[in-house]
Amino acid sequence: MLAGGVGGSRFVRGVREECARRWPDGEGGSEASVTVVVNTGDDIWLAGVRLMPDFDSLLYSLAGVNDAERGWGRAGETERVAAELREWGVGWPWFTLGDLDLGTHLARTAWLREGATVSEVAERLQRRWPLGVRLLPATDTEVDTWVDVADPDVPEGARAMHFQEWWTRYRAALPALAFRQRNLRAAQPAPGVVEAIVGSDVVLVAPSNPVVSIGTILSVPGIREALAETHAPVVGVSPIIGGRVVRGMADACLPVIGVETTAEAVGRHYGARSSGGLLDGWLVDEADAASLASLASLGLAAASVPLWMRDLGTSADLAGAALDLAGRARRSAAPGRPEPLDRPDVPGAT
Ligand code: GDP
Ligand code: CA
Repeated sequence: MLAGGVGGSRFVRGVREECARRWPDGEGGSEASVTVVVNTGDDIWLAGVRLMPDFDSLLYSLAGVNDAERGWGRAGETERVAAELREWGVGWPWFTLGDLDLGTHLARTAWLREGATVSEVAERLQRRWPLGVRLLPATDTEVDTWVDVADPDVPEGARAMHFQEWWTRYRAALPALAFRQRNLRAAQPAPGVVEAIVGSDVVLVAPSNPVVSIGTILSVPGIREALAETHAPVVGVSPIIGGRVVRGMADACLPVIGVETTAEAVGRHYGARSSGGLLDGWLVDEADAASLASLASLGLAAASVPLWMRDLGTSADLAGAALDLAGRARRSAAPGRPEPLDRPDVPGAT
């Protein structure tokens, strides 16, 4: 799977649940293994430590130690250290670092300082809890996203700020001109990323921000190529329902790259693999069923199902619909091939 933080976490939890339903441990000798390629464009150095917001959202959420009510960070969090940092004028006053969360950042930074790579650090952080899935940062290179914002007060007419400042301090309300990832030319997929994509039975693109989450993953040289090469069907889930983002502010990002905030426009933007794009299948909400015919005419297997992930059950149902669509996309590409993704035959199952 390719995933960002909030939409990514909910969907990955749904996939983990649906896999446990379809392939219960050991039954029939098979067990699903899920690898998540995680966006690293939101990562930042702040107050002397390395933050990986999307990775940590997935880590905490899959471990069940996340603050579900607030939607980010750790449950039972306190902010004593953040108050001290504010007194010292270190870090950003509008960007709160919780105490438990800082523990993660300190551990990560310590390991990085000892010479570990980003993906080695990610692997160590995952040893603490049994997540049931493997999280891989998209790249070990620091590809932090920067935003060019219009500024009439400077001669160039624009200035650049880190994505986190634009997102958190300005709530994505400053008009953005462009998103740029640092060091992209030197970046490579982290070890295991290409192998996971090329070697998988199905690739799912989470309903994450198409620009600064999925877009950043795809911009790492080698990842698009792996997605073009894989024999697995690639199925995406729309983060846009009825012309609106469900959670978050992706609608502030899409216009910057000239894409309308609709499920159909994002499907078109990703494009059909049969014509050089990313996807074989695209899931939209029932509210967007009117776009199915035009999506099909692009060469996409398209279907409409409820896309709101309200709880684990609805997230798992959505994951199931994505796996079913992957099966459909695979059958139309290679009719008659055995289908590893189908539900096991359960009496009474529909
Ligand atoms: P971020 O890293 O925290 O911005 O999170 P992501 O990039 O993973 O996802 C943000 C996007 O997830 C938002 O733009 C939403 O449109 C989408 N999203 C959040 N919740 C849902 C949901 O329940 N269903 C669907 N389809 N999309 C969702
Ligand atoms: Ca993010």
